[in-house]
Amino acid sequence: MITKIRGTEDILPNDCGLWRYVEETARELCRVFGYGEIRTPVFENTELFNRGVGDTTDVVQKEMYTFLDKGGRSMTLKPEGTATLVRSYIENSLYANPQPTKLYYIIPCFRYEKPEAGRLREFHQFGIECFGAETAKTDAEIIALAMTFLDRLGIKNLKLNINNIGCPKCRAEYNKKLVEYFSRFKDRLCTTCLGRLEKNPMRIIDCKSEVCSGIAENAPRMLDYLCEDCSKHFEETKLNLDNLSIDYTINPNIVRGLDYYTKTVFEIIADIDGSSLTVCGGGRYNGLVEQLGGKPTEGIGFAAGLERLIMIMKSQGIMPVALENAPEIFIGTIGKDAEQFAQRLVYDLRINGIYVENDLLLRSVKAQMKYANKINAKYSMILGDDEVKENTASLKNMESGEEVQIELSAEKIIESLKK
Ligand code: ATP
Ligand code: MG
Repeated sequence: MITKIRGTEDILPNDCGLWRYVEETARELCRVFGYGEIRTPVFENTELFNRGVGDTTDVVQKEMYTFLDKGGRSMTLKPEGTATLVRSYIENSLYANPQPTKLYYIIPCFRYEKPEAGRLREFHQFGIECFGAETAKTDAEIIALAMTFLDRLGIKNLKLNINNIGCPKCRAEYNKKLVEYFSRFKDRLCTTCLGRLEKNPMRIIDCKSEVCSGIAENAPRMLDYLCEDCSKHFEETKLNLDNLSIDYTINPNIVRGLDYYTKTVFEIIADIDGSSLTVCGGGRYNGLVEQLGGKPTEGIGFAAGLERLIMIMKSQGIMPVALENAPEIFIGTIGKDAEQFAQRLVYDLRINGIYVENDLLLRSVKAQMKYANKINAKYSMILGDDEVKENTASLKNMESGEEVQIELSAEKIIESLKK
């Protein structure tokens, strides 16, 4: 028996209804917020992520699914969406369209992580990006879309954490302070953080080890070192969020795991059975387009993990009613002629948009009706030689048991169902 790969999941028909509901909610919100869909390849040149996500990040250092293709080129399965969207924005000259460029995606992502609840090796993200807009109003629009999305899904007990991690200008100064601070704890930092101390000290604040995060608690805070421009941007972002009545908490420890962020960063955290889980993360990345070979262009976006959202929806007992899909009618048959007649009738009903079920296994009438019950058919009818000859049958309401005689045409049946 060959089993699925560790950290991957089969999403079965029952759950696919919930998945579609989540995806359709995302699509509908993107429509009204003006974000257009973009679909991109599942794999990219490895170099894109090394440069675009950053080679000091966990994602690039430890988590990428990288392989050589038969031509000896290094390929990587997308671990996230932003670097790809930046590549596509540049490669397809999307900057030539009226600005800003507002895009959304729903993609599978691949990260070699230790699988646990809410952490998979193949997972899915819904994300949006906005290129070419520098205003704090844009930051608020992005955050508002994320919050509205989660709210529409019916998820409760959400917390929005925001922070500002500065720009290359003010962060240089801050990094010096961080190096000074963390150097005092060199003997206790984990080996990964010792590396970070050299290359990207801010990442230490993001470390999940207890010792490192304990040390990080008293580290200098970026908010105290923001330059005038970043500081103004932060104040304006907060005012814009207030204007949209979006509650937030300022959390100086949010630095985000990827290298490309500047200024605004945020995370949305949900409560699942008493512990917290990050369901959505995002921020501004004003240097990334240039870093990947484009003209200097501002960017901001977020990504939400769909598996985590669905996990939380289930734990909060959220089951949208629209998901139910039971057949309107089951049409059972006795004998070959009726079976052929019914096949055509079922088809005619289906092409007119009615969900009809029939028996594909040539079972006895009794077994067919048992099946109709199991799949919760709302109505049923049984066709034999007499029904076919007279072109009428009895349509039975499976719940009330009530029966009406009805002409055997798709049109008449549809009319009767509408009553
Ligand atoms: P974490 O700190 O939990 O590892 P992250 O900072 O690596 O998250 P991002 O890169 O910001 O996550 O990805 C955005 C979202 O994608 C996360 O908030 C989460 O919902 C989801 N996500 C990330 N990694 C995984 C994974 N391995 N399995 C399932 N969902 C994931
Ligand atoms: Mg991670």
